[in-house]
Parts: sequence; structure tokens; C-alpha cells
Amino acid sequence: MLVIKEDRTATMEFDIEIIRKDFPILSQKVNGQPLVYLDNAASSQKPLAVIDAISDYYKTTHSNVHRGVHYLSQRATTAYEDTREKVRALINAKLDHEIIFTRGTTESINLLASSLGKHQIQKGDEIVISEMEHHSNIVPWQLLCEETGAILKVIPVNDQGEITEESYHNVINEKTKIVAICHVSNTLGTINSIASIIEYAHQFGALTVIDGAQALPHMTVDVQQLNCDFYCFSGHKMFGPTGIGILYGKEALLDALPPYHGGGNMIENVTFEKTTYNKLPHKFEAGTPNIAGGIGLGAAIDYIMKIGYEEIGKYEDELAKYGHEQLSAIKNLRFIGDATEKSAVFSFVIEGIHPSDLGTILDQQGIAVRTGHHCTQPLMDKFGISGTVRASFAFYNTIDEVDRLVNGINKAVAMLS
Ligand code: PMP
Repeated sequence: MLVIKEDRTATMEFDIEIIRKDFPILSQKVNGQPLVYLDNAASSQKPLAVIDAISDYYKTTHSNVHRGVHYLSQRATTAYEDTREKVRALINAKLDHEIIFTRGTTESINLLASSLGKHQIQKGDEIVISEMEHHSNIVPWQLLCEETGAILKVIPVNDQGEITEESYHNVINEKTKIVAICHVSNTLGTINSIASIIEYAHQFGALTVIDGAQALPHMTVDVQQLNCDFYCFSGHKMFGPTGIGILYGKEALLDALPPYHGGGNMIENVTFEKTTYNKLPHKFEAGTPNIAGGIGLGAAIDYIMKIGYEEIGKYEDELAKYGHEQLSAIKNLRFIGDATEKSAVFSFVIEGIHPSDLGTILDQQGIAVRTGHHCTQPLMDKFGISGTVRASFAFYNTIDEVDRLVNGINKAVAMLS
């Protein structure tokens, strides 16, 4: 039942059966069993509202955006730019043009590493990341270090998979120019105290880059409250399409950065002698963008807002609590990452069983989990393992699916032992 509240925090009473009907993919069978989709940290499924928005766009509106004088171009531009405003409101940025469309988190971070690197990073400067970062928040900074002679410093993670205050105080100092940290770890589920890390980094004048790929699907993000300098995320993890993502940056900082890609739309004036650049956000948006992706992301944001993060959070907390209890009861199962502040992600290993064997047997039972290093190889090295099994939940998963997972694991263990 829809209940529109004025503050838009929770506009729909959480009815899991109704919600699941919005996601057609979830009702299919895989290997003869009803699908249990627990690979949401890799990519989440799409509600009909998103699928229809993309389809309608191509049926009724498609044309290239910006600068067109004709009806369809203006209509497409309006729909695409509406998403920018929805993103702004979603993360409470001050200004629309602080929202840059990219292909995803990976491109957002690469853009920053490239553009920041050109002017602001010099030999001997330090760039700080953490041991739990996704390769997307490691390799772009390594490339920058190779180019400039800057030094990559790493905040260690404790055995529970947490970043302690002491650990980041030991690494961030006056040589630190950039601190790039994930809000939520894709492998461990740890929710980092990023507000405190940002505040500490700012005491040394460092810029802060937050990888929010795993936060937006689950929780409210307020970039003004966090006071981060940059915040990056991907549409496809938050029930939107692939190939569209966001870079948020404070206006003055984005203004000061050189462009990333050159081409159409990002220019003000071009001559063979000199090109001047367009204003924000276009300066960073060269070429024809992913228009349908942008519009689909707008529909995903509407969908999330309709349910409300408060409801999503409450429901996922229940799933996580129950999942933790049930998985803990499995003999020889070791959680990788057991942080106090954690989202509904379970990474684990079972003694004597290879994660990919376990994943394959779960798949035969219609249960989709991810196995491997989850693009966090240094973190695997820290825990002395080659990979984990990861079950990651979204608000459309159910208690019954937790039971299916646990039964599936028990069956696999009996077969493999
Ligand atoms: N950072 C984190 C924490 C992630 O989970 C992911 C995706 N697994 C990325 C970055 C990269 O996102 P994308 O592939 O959408 O660019």
C-alpha cells in the first residue's frame, strides 16, 4: 500500500510480495529451482519501472541530447537532465552541476586520478587508500603514482575487517594529498566511519574521495553532511542500468580540475590553436552520453525513494541478523569480515572446500552467489585466502531465501566432504 509521507523517507509500507513482483527476473527458475539471487553486490536486478523507462525512452523520445532545437532532442535532454536533479536530491548535493555522469564508479575514480594528477600531485606526495579497497580504487591511484612519483599508502584492516581510528591516524599525515576510501566494502560488508576519516584527512588539507558503489543500494548518503570532496557510485548496483554512474564533486574543486576526455559537448570554443572548455558539468562529459542509462537511473532513484531508505534499512537489518545467525551455525564456516557496522553481505570460507566448488553446487540449486577474490586481491592476501563465497542481499531478498542458502550450503558440504 502506498503511503505518501511529506518527507519522502518512507512512502510505501514494506510488502515484500509486492516488491518482488516489481522485479520480473526474480520469478524465474534456474536449474529447475526458483532463483535465489544473492549476487547483489556485483550487480542488482531492475524493477519494471526502470525497464519500462528505458523502453519508453527508445519508443517515444530518443534523440541526441543538448543543443538540439527540435522537439525530440529537447524532450530527451529534459528527461536526461531530470536525473541529474534526482541524483542531486538523493545525495543532497548543493548544486546540479556538481553531479557528473560517468560510466560508473570505475570511470569516476579514473577521472579523478587523471585530472587531479595532472596538476595537484607531485613526487613524494602520499595517496592513502585502505586494505579493503576494490581494484577500482587501487589501480587508478597506482597508475597516478607511477606517473608522478607519488607514494601509495595503505590503511590496514583489522581481523574483523574494520578500519580503526588508530590505523588511519597512523597513515594520514601532512604529506597526504588524497584519501580514497570505500563507504561500504563489497567483500566484507563493513560500513566505514567515513565522516571521521574525512574530518581527519581535512585536518591535513588532503582531498577525500569516497567510493560509494556499495552504499547507495542500502543507505542514505548526504554528501554535505559527510563533507567529502568527491563521491563516486554506479547505477547498476542501485537497481538502475549498467553503463551509467556518478561522480559528485564540490563545485570549486571540479571547477579547478582539467577535463578528463576531450570531444563534443565538453568545449566552449574550438580553434586549431586553442580550445576553451564548457562549464560544469559538461566539461567532464565529452561525447554522446548514455542517455537511456541516465533516464533509467532516474527511474531507479524514484523507485528507491518510493520505498524509502528507512524501510530498506530496517528490512535488510532483519535479513542480515537472521542470515548471520543461520550461517554461524554451519560447522567449519568462517566469516571473512565480521564488523560491528555491516551491511547485508556475507563473505565466508568453509574449511576443506574450495569456494568455486561450493558456488557451483549452489548454482545447481538455483542459488546465485559470487565466488573468488571480488576484485579485492590484497584483502584476500591479508586474510591468507585465495577467495571467498559471497552472499550479498538486497531489499527484495527474503528470510526464506536465507534458509534456501543455508540448506544449499549444507547439501554442498555433504557432497564435497
Ligand atoms: N567499488 C566497489 C566497492 C565495488 O563494489 C565496485 C563494483 N564491484 C566498484 C568499485 C566498481 O564499480 P563499477 O564496476 O560499476 O565501475
